[in-house]
Parts: sequence; C-alpha cells; structure tokens
Amino acid sequence: MADISIALSKGRIFDETVPLLARVGIAPKSNGASSRKLILATHRSDVRLIIVRATDTPTYVRYGGADLGIAGRDVLVEHGGDGLYQPVDLGIAACRMMVAVKKGFDYEGAVRQGARLRVATKYVNITREHFAAKGVHVDLIRLYGSMELAPLVGLADAIVDLVSTGNTLRANDLVEAEQIMPVSARLIVNQAALKTKRAALQPLIDAFAKAAEK
Ligand code: AMP
Repeated sequence: MADISIALSKGRIFDETVPLLARVGIAPKSNGASSRKLILATHRSDVRLIIVRATDTPTYVRYGGADLGIAGRDVLVEHGGDGLYQPVDLGIAACRMMVAVKKGFDYEGAVRQGARLRVATKYVNITREHFAAKGVHVDLIRLYGSMELAPLVGLADAIVDLVSTGNTLRANDLVEAEQIMPVSARLIVNQAALKTKRAALQPLIDAFAKAAEK
C-alpha cells in the first residue's frame, strides 16, 4: 500500500527530479517519460508518483490528491502557493522569468517615457504585478504558448516568459530586456498531511533538502 503520493509533471521537472529521487532512495518502477500511466509505483512500496499538468500540481497538493509535489516557482507565484508548505528549494529546472522584446526595440525608453506597453504572456498575474510595481501601464494579452511569436507579428511589444539557455529568444530575434525573478522547482507539502503523517513525511522532506544541497 503506497501511502505517500508525490505529484509532479512530465518533461523538465520529471527529468530533473528522477536523479534527485534516486538520491532520496526512490526510483520509479516504470519509465515515466514514455509511460502513459498517471500513477507510477516506485521501488519503495509506500511511495508513488502522480503525473499531473505542471499548473495543476499545487491544486493536487492543496486538496490532498497528493501529499507532496514538485512545482516551479513560476507556477506557485502565478497560480498561488497559498495553503501549501514550501520547505525546500530543490534548485532543479532552474531558469529565469524575463521580459523580452524584439531586437532593436527601445524597452528602457518606452518604460521611461511612460508608454503603454502591450505585453503577451501566459503569466498574466506575475506580469500585471511586475509592471504595476514599476508604475508602467500595460495591456495584457493572454497566450497559452509560443509567446515568442507575438512581438514578431506585431501582436505585442514585449513578452514575459521563462528563459533558460536563451536559444529560443535568439532563434526568434528577441532579446532579454529585464529579469522579473529567478525560477527553480520547490518541494510543496499538504499542510494537513504534514500533521497527520509527519512520521512518514518529515524524513522524506529532510532527505529532499539534503539531496538538493549537493
Ligand atoms: P531556452 O531556449 O533554453 O531559453 O528555453 C526557453 C523555452 O523553454 C521557453 O519556451 C520557456 O517557456 C521554456 N522553459 C525554459 N525553462 C523552463 C523551465 N524551467 N520550466 C518550464 N519551461 C521552461
């Protein structure tokens, strides 16, 4: 009987979590990257992995669909980390949340002159707060992906997106204009579970913290 569930998303987070899990002593029985299974057993009979959409991870953990979760800071800030205990910055899936513009666009000038910027992003809350704090007026255009296209076709002056190597920006003639925040994945914990299952969860949380230090 698996009595500890860890929610995480496929892709970058899963790929970078697997080595971390190995250091914690947990290995999935099947290869999550290729499996269509949404619940993965591990070699520890009391631990299972639950595969969710990245933006759903905080929801699963908040409502007890999983005891633990691994979620990017971008998701936690954008969709709310309220009601979640966030004890460990795992340091994985590291990147930065950036404002980016088309090469040649005078971002500093536009901001200085108080121009109204059109900004395309899927991170509407983070973007709204960032520009409100700077006193810059923005028209937000909500997109669900391929934000890099928006400045190229005149849909927006700027985008807000995650940047890792910068290759995607470079390939599309965009440049970094301003960093909003550094991003990495955090361990998140259901607060009620921490009380009722502390004996099982605390050693695992401590092991994650230790594994993340290396
Ligand atoms: P890069 O070309 O390496 O700068 O990566 C940029 C692309 O990958 C963008 O489409 C980002 O949204 C996405 N990306 C980069 N880092 C992450 C991350 N840690 N989590 C999710 N998406 C990311």
